[in-house]
Amino acid sequence: MFARKKFISAKEVAQHLSSLETRERLNLPAGTIHERTAVRWLQYLGYSWRHEPKGQYKDGHEREDVVDYRQNVFLPAWMRLTEGLTAFDDGNESSVILWFHDECTFYANDCRTLRWVHEDEEPVPYPKGEGLSLMVADFASAQYGWLRAPDGSSEARILFRAGKERDGYLKAQNIQDQATLAMDILDAHYPGHKHVFIYDNAPTHLARAPNALSARRMPLHPPKKKNFLCPVKTSEGLTQSVRMEDGTFPDGTPQSLYFPEGHPQAGLFKGMKEILHERIVKGALLPDPSTLLAQCPKFKCPSPMDTTVHCCCRRILFNQPDFANRTSGLEEHCKARGYEVLFLPRFHCELNFIEQCWAYAKRIYREFPPSPTLLDLERNAVAALDSVPLNAMRNFFRRSFRFMDAYRNGLNGTRAAWACKKYRGHRVIPESLLADMEASGV
Ligand SMILES: [Zn+2]
Repeated sequence: MFARKKFISAKEVAQHLSSLETRERLNLPAGTIHERTAVRWLQYLGYSWRHEPKGQYKDGHEREDVVDYRQNVFLPAWMRLTEGLTAFDDGNESSVILWFHDECTFYANDCRTLRWVHEDEEPVPYPKGEGLSLMVADFASAQYGWLRAPDGSSEARILFRAGKERDGYLKAQNIQDQATLAMDILDAHYPGHKHVFIYDNAPTHLARAPNALSARRMPLHPPKKKNFLCPVKTSEGLTQSVRMEDGTFPDGTPQSLYFPEGHPQAGLFKGMKEILHERIVKGALLPDPSTLLAQCPKFKCPSPMDTTVHCCCRRILFNQPDFANRTSGLEEHCKARGYEVLFLPRFHCELNFIEQCWAYAKRIYREFPPSPTLLDLERNAVAALDSVPLNAMRNFFRRSFRFMDAYRNGLNGTRAAWACKKYRGHRVIPESLLADMEASGV
């Protein structure tokens, strides 16, 4: 019975077991089975009534590179931005406004994630595009809630109804257009604040210009046959090959990656060895590239996190400031208008408080009658999103703030989760943390 039907209620189990046919087949005594009894049986069999396991927390959360980014890149930036941010919910005129961005999909059959889940069940990735769906992308802050004009005349929320986008990530261009929309609204209605956009670490958000500086595919020497160029899609959909953009020498002057006019190999890509050699001539303190491999065997550098280890040409270039600091297209786009962009560490949805806003909205959404058409789905989803109270949003924000603080205190995911639950009423983790943890055996 369970194998055939995933979504089943205890009531249905009780009804099934109470039917004359089943009772005869299983040789059960006469009488009806109460729902309460069915619940106890299900629990005895190892089932519990909860949401389908999604397994976001498990994979990668404590991976070395993710933790490295969290502790050494994200948190220092976060602390710099939130310094002096004490009365965020007063809407202080001069304060920093942190706009979290996120995407969420509403399904016509969204009600169906709460079910009896067996204890041995492994999380499975959500099938995308199961029936009718609507993708929503929005920004929210603890001060103002969803990003919109005070009179509601414009909003940064975008809905993706049809077409290819519905199935997966939004395209980098969509995300950039949305940022433009958001900046237009903020410029017009919320001047005087410093605005920061906080995005997930999704590939679409990190997308760089097609010819952005990248050592990933660079050859060691000037290529003999085909020059090393970057494919760029034109507006007509054609692919064009263009030169990779210039690098930057230690003295701040540009370094072309291609040999200049008049050189015997004019126009040809210089190769990693020559690029590094030129940098050394200009004063970079690097080992002689002629003794180094293009890359460590199987791309496995011994300590990829340690920027002082010069194991191979590719790693050295990865760690060169101009290569390492090459910002994403989105970041550049926002920076050009004075908006700062911060990317959350991967797999850390607990740091994005919109996640909880979506969850709140979905609880409301599930109360509505089903959405048979896309129009109903859209109306219901929007109504649900708009009914998330600002106070709830602020609580969610405080919760992710506590997580930030827990990670800042050097806790791992499990301990951070414990601390955030324990200090629910606090915005920052109290000094007594370590003693409390010890006392509780975490
Ligand atoms: Zn290496």
